[in-house]
Amino acid sequence: MTARQAPGIGSVAGIAAAVRSGEISARSVLQSSLERVADLEADLHCFNAITAEKAMADADAVDRLVGSGLDPGPLAGVPVALKDNLCTEGIPTTCSSRILAGWMPPYDATVVSRLRCAGAVPVGKTNLDEFAMGSSNENSGFHPVHNPRDRSRVPGGSSGGSAAVIAAGTAVASIGSDTGGSIRQPAAFCGVVGLKPTYGRVSRYGLIAFASSLDHVGPFGKSVKDTALMLQQMAGREPLDSTSADVPVPNYLDQIGQPVRGLRIGVPEEYFGEGLDPEVRSAVEAGIQELAKAGCEIVPISLPYSKYAIPTYYVVATAEASSNLARYDGVRYGVRAREGKTLAEMYRRTRDAGFGAEVKRRIMLGTYVLSAGYYDAYYLKAQRVRRLLASDFDRAFTKVDAIVTPTTPTPAFKLGEKMDDPLAMYLADIFTVTANLAGIPGMSIPCGKSREGLPIGMQILGKHFDEPMVLRVGHAVEHAMAG
Ligand code: GLN
Repeated sequence: MTARQAPGIGSVAGIAAAVRSGEISARSVLQSSLERVADLEADLHCFNAITAEKAMADADAVDRLVGSGLDPGPLAGVPVALKDNLCTEGIPTTCSSRILAGWMPPYDATVVSRLRCAGAVPVGKTNLDEFAMGSSNENSGFHPVHNPRDRSRVPGGSSGGSAAVIAAGTAVASIGSDTGGSIRQPAAFCGVVGLKPTYGRVSRYGLIAFASSLDHVGPFGKSVKDTALMLQQMAGREPLDSTSADVPVPNYLDQIGQPVRGLRIGVPEEYFGEGLDPEVRSAVEAGIQELAKAGCEIVPISLPYSKYAIPTYYVVATAEASSNLARYDGVRYGVRAREGKTLAEMYRRTRDAGFGAEVKRRIMLGTYVLSAGYYDAYYLKAQRVRRLLASDFDRAFTKVDAIVTPTTPTPAFKLGEKMDDPLAMYLADIFTVTANLAGIPGMSIPCGKSREGLPIGMQILGKHFDEPMVLRVGHAVEHAMAG
């Protein structure tokens, strides 16, 4: 039986079960994934690197374990793709930036080693907006990713490659990072599931930092269940990241499929106002109707500070980015500009040649908001508004179990459409950045299509560490929309 014919083989659980029982080899699953990559990659540009040889060795190691009666783990033989801002030992890690050309990390990020320990087989490193700054993947220093659902459109960003591989079927699951929406927004644009866990739920060790207080690592999958199975292996306290939380990890499958009758679902008026595409509105409202039919109580709520989310995010994120990116000076990592009479000149030339326009824009903005005389007016003010925004959610969650919103104001836009207008690009994250500022979990699930056939995403938000509720509600909508 080949991977393509096997029943249910396309899912994380299906592949792992078939590989663990010896019904199918990890090698053959990998081969069919690599065949698809070979068919599609030239048109889509999802990957910065395809690590076929290493993947074969990993798959064979999984098969050997099965052959000797040992269990390779709950993700046995599952081909996964890793965003190229996650460190991978001995495999170039670029953040889609010229400045990191040729840099080889000496260790694996914690999520990478955890997935490997669970038997997953990494197939390659996915393309992203440079240093995860962007909403369309067009800021990649190498090549924009094309949306597999409509190749004239962007896949979203910054984890566009990781979302697109799921839509294209070149990997079964993938990992992304989300600082202001970079998992949920591309999931919505590509019609897949993407989950940003609670801040601290998944270790960030080995994730190359963009804005440390907002950065999260999370999974993509074709279904809510696949995403839950990935999170299960990624979550948990880890001493190498002191912000990773010492909170027990529940079984994420337990609540999937549980009835949602009686749950209170908050619908915030601020997320359904001006600027929301009418087709997105009606698709998400139809999803909410399904929850109502299943017995949920739909509760109108207000999150009044959401209107300050974008400016708050772009002050905090750029401030942290300007500090995190100071380390790329041509001395310790990646490329160094050749000429330069003084040390300062070498720094300047390296950074000028190595960083793209958007990264430079963010470093300048971040340096400005942190500078003496402006710190109080911008950075400190933004931190205060961030607190107010988070208390909006605290209040809401005393009345509701989960909150449902559109993931994005519009479906995927055309390549090139917003490249000359950074502010318009920033608005693509208007519904997602609030969860990063508050640190709460959020997931995007497919919720219908536009008339043109473009995927639309529904976002589900939960209390801190209440991923089980987010998954339960997400699964209920997924189930109802499929049926
Ligand atoms: N699009 C947002 C930005 O450009 C969010 C990016 C992200 O989540 N990494 O900053």
